[in-house]
Formats: sequence, structure tokens, C-alpha cells
Amino acid sequence: MALIVHKYGGTSMGSTERIRSVAQRVAKWVRAGHQLVVVPSAMSGETNRLLGLAKELMPNPSAPEALRELDAVAATGEQVSVGLLALALQAQGVPAVSYGGWQVPVQTDSAYTKARIASIDDARIRADLACGKVVVITGFQGIDALGNVTTLGRGGSDTSAVAVAAALKADECLIYTDVDGVYTTDPRIVPEARRLASISFEEMLEMASLGSKVLQIRSVEFAGKYRVPTRVLSSFTPWDIPIEDEAQSGTLITFEEDEKMEQAVVSGIAFNRDEAKISVIGVPDRPGIAFQIIGPVAAANIDIDVIIQNVSHDGRTDFSFTVHRNDYQRAMGVLESQVLPATGAARVIGDAKICKVSIVGIGMRSHVGVASTMFRTLSEEGINIQMITTSEIKTSVVIDEKYMELAVRALHKAFDLDASAVAAE
Ligand code: ASP
Ligand code: MG
Repeated sequence: MALIVHKYGGTSMGSTERIRSVAQRVAKWVRAGHQLVVVPSAMSGETNRLLGLAKELMPNPSAPEALRELDAVAATGEQVSVGLLALALQAQGVPAVSYGGWQVPVQTDSAYTKARIASIDDARIRADLACGKVVVITGFQGIDALGNVTTLGRGGSDTSAVAVAAALKADECLIYTDVDGVYTTDPRIVPEARRLASISFEEMLEMASLGSKVLQIRSVEFAGKYRVPTRVLSSFTPWDIPIEDEAQSGTLITFEEDEKMEQAVVSGIAFNRDEAKISVIGVPDRPGIAFQIIGPVAAANIDIDVIIQNVSHDGRTDFSFTVHRNDYQRAMGVLESQVLPATGAARVIGDAKICKVSIVGIGMRSHVGVASTMFRTLSEEGINIQMITTSEIKTSVVIDEKYMELAVRALHKAFDLDASAVAAE
């Protein structure tokens, strides 16, 4: 008997028919003798619908008291899902009970719309499991120290599921989703993309942070921190496929490099169009200047990504960085109103039409020339690189948004990731 956490995404929960099929799948695992905790998302489109209603009444909520209400609204999507799924399970003859995050409780901080989980009390869950019940817990939400409902950010149900699995020391966390695993890149952009049977936790973390939408980043962090064996697999296989086949399908996130089956230098290509580039031109080059520029931006709670400072000429330099596109206008405002007057920099310019394309692979640690292959490939396509950042297992470039697909396809091919390349070996 194993203790297993299942997570079902919005598409898997998209209709009562699909919820019934989820219940049948869960029932199959229960009948095979396992203890099951299930963490579903809201029905597909529901969170958008709820936030859309809120937006009709307040187009740009930013005050904490408004964000609190956004969370109160958004959290109801999952509340409906858990109740429906528990009903569907009971209808299958499987004892089940549903809980909202606040009932467990899933304790979070008070950062509305992007709260972080602080702790999960497992007592109630364990008691129900001991009674032979399936426990269905809302994804995406928790409760803060003052009793306010919070949400974990879009896609947060992944994090809920992995966190619950960590708290329960579950044997495995299975993330059922509308794709059948983690691919070398998005198959919608590169049809030759391949599913990976396994991916190291570090690579998965990079892929998620760099734009792969398969898992929420925080969930991968949790999986790594608590070493939760996590598998991404399809919820669209027939519910009654043999449990052994299902348990081996999808992509397993691994923690031991040596166990990695596919020793590619580059395991995947990630991309995102969510960023905007900002440059502060003619900054006096003196100690403390980076802090004077970035400090006020960070104080406005804006995350900064790629940062570049040029060598200076005549005591002045240019300083560029990227922010999330949603924060672009606000960041420009902070720079113009605070940073320009404080530093005496000449001006601020920005470009929201950029994208970041990254190659990821733990094999990069032991291979030289990987970045140079990347740059050569982009140059052969005539694509200009605007910014570059590297870490031990990734190289990212910022390029014009309009070349994104071209760049991803060319890199996928250059690093032998196309399905045909593997078949030919
Ligand atoms: N329902 C939430 C969202 O749409 C959380 C999730 O699905 O993971 O973002
Ligand atoms: Mg998701």
C-alpha cells in the first residue's frame, strides 16, 4: 500500500463527465490498495471567469484590501471542484471527503494573489485516510495567520499538490494534466519535440522558471526541497488502463543525475514572451549605482530578471534589465519618477516586444562550446542577440519577439532534440 497524491488540472476537471472519469481513475487506485489524496484545480476557464467578474468591478486592483477580495473570489473555483469530485467518488462507492485549504489548514503568508505555503497540518488528512477515505483538497489556496483566504498564484494547484505530498511524505505525487509529460520544447512550436521519460529536478526547475508552462515553478522547488517523487502524466488516457502502465507513463522528475536515462547535453529549449526590457542610459558609473537603480524597482515589488551593465565610457554607463510585462509600465514609472532624478542618468528606454529563449541541460556542466553552438545557430538565422545570461545548466538570450519561433526551432534541431534525430541514432 502506498500513499499517493493525485493532482488534476482544470481541463481534467472541465465538465461533470470529466470529473466522473477522474473519480473512476482515483477509484481504480483505491481498489488497488492505495491511500489517495487528490488535489484538483478549478474547472477549466473558471478562474479566468471569476477574475474577469472581479475585473469588471475593479479593473486594476492593487491595494491589499482589493487583492484580498480577488483571492476570496478566485478561491471559490477550487471549492466547487473538490465538492463535486468528492460527490463523484462517493457515487462510485468510494468514501471521500473534501476540504478547502482553510479547513486543513494550509497555512500561508499574507501575500494575496501570490501567497507562499508556510505549513500544512496533516492531522485531519491522516485521520481520514486511516478511516479509508479519499481526501480531496482544494489546490491553489490556503489561509493566512489572520484567517484570510489566500491564493498561491496562477497555476498554484501544482504547488498545493506537491506541498501536500511533502507534508504527508507521500510515496509519489502524480500530476495529471492535458499533456502527456514534459517535452524537449513546446510541441505546438516544434512538432518534432519529444517527451522526456525523465528529467532532473534542476533541469525541470530551469525549464519552469524559463517559461515552460507544464508545472508551476514553486511546485518544482517544493519537489526539490522535500525530494517528492513527482511525475507529470496525461489525464486523457482511458481511466481504466492498467495501473502499472499508468504508473510508468509521463515524465518522472529525478533527483540523481546518474539515474538520468537520456544523457543529452541539452535536454530542452524553453522560451517566454512575458518579459520586457528596460535600459537606463547614461548612468554615472560610481559605487552603489546598481542598487540605486534596482533598489526602488524592487521596493515596488517588481521582480527583475536578466541584468546587464556595460563597461563605462567617460564615467557613464548603460544599465539594462528585464521585468515581467505586467510590471513594465510600473517599472518605467518608478525609474522616471525616482531613479532618473536621484542618479542623474540621461534617460530610460524600454521595449516590450522581446522574448527570452533558453537552452537547458545538466550536460552543459561537462561540455564546452554549448553556448557557442547556440550563438552560431542564431547567427545563421540572422537573429540578433540583445542580452545573454548563463548559469551552470542554462544559457538564455533575449531577442526580438518576432524571431521566437524561428529561434526555438533552429535550436531544437541544432541540439539534436528532434524526434527524428533520436530515431536515427
Ligand atoms: N485554478 C487556478 C488557475 O487557473 C490554479 C490552477 O489551476 O492551478 O490558475
Ligand atoms: Mg496548470
